[in-house]
Amino acid sequence: MKNPGHADERSSEKRVKAIAAVSGGLDSILAAAVVSRLGIDVTLLYVKHLFSGGEKKEGAVKRQAEGLGLPLRIVDGTVEHLDIVRHPRHGYGRGMNPCLDCRIFLLKTAKRVMEEEGAEFVITGEVLNQRPMSQHRGALDVVAEESGLSDRLLRPLSANLLPDALPVKEGWIDREDLYSFSGRSRREQAALARQLEISDYPQPAGGCLLTEKVYAARLRDAFEHAGADAVDIDGFRLLRYGRHFRLSDRVKVIVGRNEAENDILPGFSQGRILLEPVDVMGPTTLIEGEPSEGELELAAAIVARYSDSVEGRPVRFRVSGVGSERELDVIPLPPEDPRIAGWRIG
Ligand code: SF4
Repeated sequence: MKNPGHADERSSEKRVKAIAAVSGGLDSILAAAVVSRLGIDVTLLYVKHLFSGGEKKEGAVKRQAEGLGLPLRIVDGTVEHLDIVRHPRHGYGRGMNPCLDCRIFLLKTAKRVMEEEGAEFVITGEVLNQRPMSQHRGALDVVAEESGLSDRLLRPLSANLLPDALPVKEGWIDREDLYSFSGRSRREQAALARQLEISDYPQPAGGCLLTEKVYAARLRDAFEHAGADAVDIDGFRLLRYGRHFRLSDRVKVIVGRNEAENDILPGFSQGRILLEPVDVMGPTTLIEGEPSEGELELAAAIVARYSDSVEGRPVRFRVSGVGSERELDVIPLPPEDPRIAGWRIG
């Protein structure tokens, strides 16, 4: 392992600035730390969106920035990112993850911040061949070109396996101070982290929620039935909670799985029908679409099956939302009803 350089060893002439796109994981903070030690003024950039890991990741980034003593900019890219999920130019991975478009979006944002900050280049923690969809050589080239960064994009961890980026061409950084990491093993990164005394980083995670089988199936279903543009931010959020049942093209039922979800679901009741058991303990439920009376009764019968009801006895529900409130009695569907599995999404 080479000896990482240090800022003090470099000239004190006007220092070159760079923006390091960080995710809260190890690779990106390593890349930022390596370049910072080479005498470049590094500002960290965290672009948050619905699938970037929430407060946990944001907290990790803030701690990392503090640990390295580097300035941090946080940009909220939620709205633009959802449009990328709805209409990715490069398509989806195994789930509904548009990783290439997501990387291009991240780096376009980094380019904008680079220009605002008067910086010369952008740093990422990408490692050649670490991820099948977004980090093979062709994908790295596409991301560099389509983000508009081209050779203003430096990947310090794999730089010696890639064509020289601008900071090397200009002599701001020596090629020999950069690395040739490749593939999925994290051994070399772990060793470099020890050398740079970076210990606060989460274990690598597989991907965001969009890569998860159940979430992806629900999102695909929503896009197919409502149309991608009709799924708003609450629609994306709601796909995380409950059991989901597709009764017809127009009607979907979402049933709380536990107390926490029963508390959360009413928060999504705007524009949806809310179903709550009156006399027994049971799940809170939302109905999307415009159900016929028969579909409403069917939805209630599915939900009743998850209630503390006496077999064969009706369960009473309060039905509210979309301008009206009333009560409805239904006999629960028997648990062995074979249609239930067919209605289930994800
Ligand atoms: S897994 Fe893919 S889609 Fe999800 S945040 Fe990462 S790059 Fe973006």
